[in-house]
Amino acid sequence: MSKSSPEATVSYPLDGLPDSGTATEAAPGVRWLRMPLPFALDHINLWLVAEGDCWAAVDTGLGNEEIRAYWRTLLAEHPLSRIVVTHLHPDHLGLAAWLQEETGTQIWMTLGEFASAHLMHTDTQPWSIAATQAFFLRHGLPIEKLASFAADKGAYRRGIPSLPVTYQRLNDGDRLRIGDHDWEIIVGYGHSPEHASLYCDDLHVLISGDMLLPRITTNVGVAPQAPEVDGLRLYLQSIARLRRLPADTLVLPSHGRPFHGLHARIDHLEAHHAARCDALIARCAEPRTAAELLATLFDRALSDGHQYFFAMGECIAHLNHLVQLGRLRRIESADVIRFIVAR
Ligand SMILES: [Zn+2]
Repeated sequence: MSKSSPEATVSYPLDGLPDSGTATEAAPGVRWLRMPLPFALDHINLWLVAEGDCWAAVDTGLGNEEIRAYWRTLLAEHPLSRIVVTHLHPDHLGLAAWLQEETGTQIWMTLGEFASAHLMHTDTQPWSIAATQAFFLRHGLPIEKLASFAADKGAYRRGIPSLPVTYQRLNDGDRLRIGDHDWEIIVGYGHSPEHASLYCDDLHVLISGDMLLPRITTNVGVAPQAPEVDGLRLYLQSIARLRRLPADTLVLPSHGRPFHGLHARIDHLEAHHAARCDALIARCAEPRTAAELLATLFDRALSDGHQYFFAMGECIAHLNHLVQLGRLRRIESADVIRFIVAR
């Protein structure tokens, strides 16, 4: 994910931030939890939705002892009725299986996220770090640039120490009755296989997960098991579908603060990605690899393997999109893939 401004069109109606592991009210019957993350992105927001005397948890936090300890305290006052997981990333899915076991409740998620999590957990080809290194090498990135990322082998499994083996399936358009209100499942693509956001029309509240964030842009990547996927088109189509929601919708994002300004934020993100596509086109009068184009998309120096991992995925996603639009052409040689303006 990368920073994107301006924020002028987005406003933040809630004062302050909850302390780690404590719950504060975000909307009637909806509580906001903030859990720490040991990354540059240093927190994730989780949500508790009132369901009778209990609470439906939306997302669970990274699977480590610190977050388990916060949950143990929280569960004393917030017994769970169910666990909804927006998508398979470790900060969201990490403690779902543990919470399921602790509370005897069920996990609700989409098939795409459930199945893909199990595939990623195997760390076999083409889901492995070695496959990612080989894929990015074909896109011009020297293997050593990913060294620190590769050394972090097993990070996905560490972040999700155990996976759920049973679940309740969520589908796009489903209506989940949670307590006093219906929540519509809105599936989105491009960030993860089948991401579930939840919208409550009674409250005008959207739990957006990672699909719509107020300050940083959602990471849109490409991975070796689907190397030519147009993830940017999937993402842009997904956020465009959110335009039908009311202008006064309160968006509860997984990172950053709850915000108003859903439509302005979608406008801004569309303009942001269009500008990045134009910048790439301007650089591709000569054939270029994705690695050569990183500086066009990222003005800051990339230092560690994780930054290269996200930056390369993002860059290839934009390039694949431009190929699909007919604006760029892919030139493949035996060892490298380059892109040039289509004429
Ligand atoms: Zn995510």
